[in-house]
Amino acid sequence: MDNIENNIVDDAISDPLDGLNILVVEDDPNILAQLSFHLKSVGYSIDTATDGDIAIQKIEDGQQYDLMVLDIMMPRVSGIEVCRTIRQKYNLYELPILISSALSESQDVVAGLETGANDYITKPFQRIELLARVKNLLSLKYMTDIARANEQLANTRALYDNLTGLPNRNYLYNKLQEAIVEANRHDSIIATLFLNIDRFKSINNSLGHGAGDIYLRELAKRLLKVADHGDIVTRLYTDTFAVVKMGLEKNSSANKYLSKFAEKILDAVNTPIIINQYELKRTASIGIVKYPDETRTVDEILRYADSAMYYAKAQGNNSYIYYSSEVHQNESDKFDLERKLKLALKNKEFVLHYQPQISLADESIVGVEALIRWDHPEDGIISPTKFISVAEETGIIIPLGQWVLETASRQNKKWQEMGFAPIRVGVNLAPQHFHEPGLVSQVEDVLKRTNLSPEYLELEITEGTIMSNAERAINTLNQLRGMGIGLSIDDFGTGYSSLNYLKRFPIQTLKIDQSFISRDLDINQQESAIVSSIIKLGHSLKLNVIAEGVETESQLDYLRQNYCNEIQGFYYSQAVTADELTELLRNRSVR
Ligand code: C2E
Ligand code: MG
Ligand code: MG
Repeated sequence: MDNIENNIVDDAISDPLDGLNILVVEDDPNILAQLSFHLKSVGYSIDTATDGDIAIQKIEDGQQYDLMVLDIMMPRVSGIEVCRTIRQKYNLYELPILISSALSESQDVVAGLETGANDYITKPFQRIELLARVKNLLSLKYMTDIARANEQLANTRALYDNLTGLPNRNYLYNKLQEAIVEANRHDSIIATLFLNIDRFKSINNSLGHGAGDIYLRELAKRLLKVADHGDIVTRLYTDTFAVVKMGLEKNSSANKYLSKFAEKILDAVNTPIIINQYELKRTASIGIVKYPDETRTVDEILRYADSAMYYAKAQGNNSYIYYSSEVHQNESDKFDLERKLKLALKNKEFVLHYQPQISLADESIVGVEALIRWDHPEDGIISPTKFISVAEETGIIIPLGQWVLETASRQNKKWQEMGFAPIRVGVNLAPQHFHEPGLVSQVEDVLKRTNLSPEYLELEITEGTIMSNAERAINTLNQLRGMGIGLSIDDFGTGYSSLNYLKRFPIQTLKIDQSFISRDLDINQQESAIVSSIIKLGHSLKLNVIAEGVETESQLDYLRQNYCNEIQGFYYSQAVTADELTELLRNRSVR
């Protein structure tokens, strides 16, 4: 019986609790021996004390225990006193204390529990009860320890980046706060450099995310190498890093020093990184901002460094730029434009113009491209090149694109209802809009609402849009194609879509980018070779090929000789209002 009981208890008290360290405090040597024996028998390590003062001394000496079994009645210092001292004097609240008392001492048990003991056991005790109570208390402590360790881990995670091991944005934020205090005290400068890798996405896209991760880790190492002792190097998000230099002296050479440093970073990024035999050579764009020169708060430092970095990117890759009034102006212009665009959308100030697409077979209008314009109440017609990029950055492009989609579809249906032979209407889709999860159902709804057959709607998507996430894009394209909608690749030749991918895109049309249709297409051999190869490529994939930006007769001749299918350009017509296009359709001829 005893044996079975022992086994059950011993089973229950297996890992991970054994090996833990218990201090048994007991003045009666027999009971002390018994307690120690039972506890040792299931794997605990035991230390003993024969009176309260000895126990307190051990704690004072810094001995570490996982639990204490504490007799209440002892000759010199009582268990209650030990309890109080441990909890109040040493602030040791996590150490579980199991008090042991004779049955007659119930008053003392209450006092013990009130001074901070966790549980009690009455003498003479049963082995099974002793072990069960000890285990309970230890489990509790074990779980609290785990919870605490997890909390610590979460704190670490909150401050460090998993991939590179570098500190993250939260860490940077805290450090900058401290740095500002220091900079004010010593009248010194903090310089914050944000850097973003140019064309990083293409690594993920072409070699996979694993390669992208390796690239970022290697880059983190390089940045740490370039940085000086005391600099903070952090990864902010995907391919954006920050380096902070503190304690710079306020003198005229600060910028010279920082420029040199920025160049060292650019060099480090420029040096190729080899992954799976591929030599990856990238550039970076860096924005630099100083405290207290241009900024007053951590938020400003982060915001302005970001603006400067994007400004550097817009100026062309592989460069660094200091935050300046120019960057600031650019930023506030954008902000202003964002506000105005929202208002314009609300006030219905946008209009669509339509540019005809002419079949070279019979010179008829086979389609139109819908091109947005902003009909500003004071400034008149504003070109999309002035506002599309800001609309894209701010997300306004989504409601705007939706409006274009619906308006163009409705207009096309209207032409059909007026009795004209049906034509396609091409609608440009911004990358953000194309990658919107709800796009497919949105298009479906528009067709339903406007009653336009899907074959008369053609969505124009650029190579860049597709290639930024090719696999997902193909999925979306297939869904759209499945609905019967036409798909074309816009500005073809300017992106990086590989032939491999091109074969997998369910598209019907290639639009040759107008930059290839140069003035002297017939005599410029390089350009004309590109154009004729794109046409051949398109035809070999059974695609309809449209040349954009055709302005002259000689360009037209060259394209005709090379069997280009359709033409869109000023030679035939600019983009015109819906009413003007109605007239063109009515006359059936464009010129
Ligand atoms: P895109 O889609 O490549 O449109 C063709 C652009 O070339 C149009 O400029 C058109 O007016 C212009 N173009 C056509 N033929 C000729 C020509 O013979 N010579 C010259 N020099 N230019 C010609 P637009 O209307 O200023 O639009 C510029 C870009 O803005 C468009 O390029 C497109 O990327 C974007 N865009 C226009 N409308 C929308 C829209 O509704 N949504 C989105 N997301 N983007 C749009
Ligand atoms: Mg287009
Ligand atoms: Mg185009």
